[in-house]
Amino acid sequence: MLNIVLFGPPGAGKGTQAEYLTREYQLVHLSTGDMLRSEIAAGTPLGIQARQKMDKGELVPDEIVIDIIEHKLEAGRGAKGFIFDGFPRTVKQASALDELLERVSTPVTAMLSLEVDNKELIMRLLSRGKVSGRADDQDKSIIENRISVYHEKTAPLIEYYKQQNKYFGIDGQGSIDDIAARLKTLIDPQRQSL
Ligand code: AMP
Repeated sequence: MLNIVLFGPPGAGKGTQAEYLTREYQLVHLSTGDMLRSEIAAGTPLGIQARQKMDKGELVPDEIVIDIIEHKLEAGRGAKGFIFDGFPRTVKQASALDELLERVSTPVTAMLSLEVDNKELIMRLLSRGKVSGRADDQDKSIIENRISVYHEKTAPLIEYYKQQNKYFGIDGQGSIDDIAARLKTLIDPQRQSL
């Protein structure tokens, strides 16, 4: 299986590139942010709990997202592989993912990290907020909080995956097609060695 962790700060373009990779390699796209927003839209107790965190730009508790991913992995049995978009976001989530994948005898193939500078991230998120309707994309202080949460809790995963020799940094600035081509250049050799 080809299991890609698409990594990067909020606004790095993970969702856009995940859609491309899903089509290109026929993978199952797992975005915890999208899943949580569906729970909110459906008004479930989980959604109500998650929303309190998301509206402030904080992370939803690990147990909640790990549980969601566990169910999706079970539902995706037989898939060619997965694109993890916005998950894992903490070391605890990353080690839970390793354990969950171990159960189905398939590891994370690679962690691809989209690198974009903070100024550009803020600009992209504010302009996305005008069309996405996402409350967390419309307020500069919430955006700044999401970026600082990324640096504090999520960026340490770079080291986590470096230790497993699975980290690949990619320039996340430029056109969508150029970034997609950079990702493909990194993924194709990985596939051949599967
Ligand atoms: P995203 O759509 O990936 O930008 O996620 C939007 C929000 O959902 C984040 O700011 C978090 O509040 C929450 N969220 C999404 N994925 C996770 C995760 N893996 N761990 C904790 N919170 C998450």
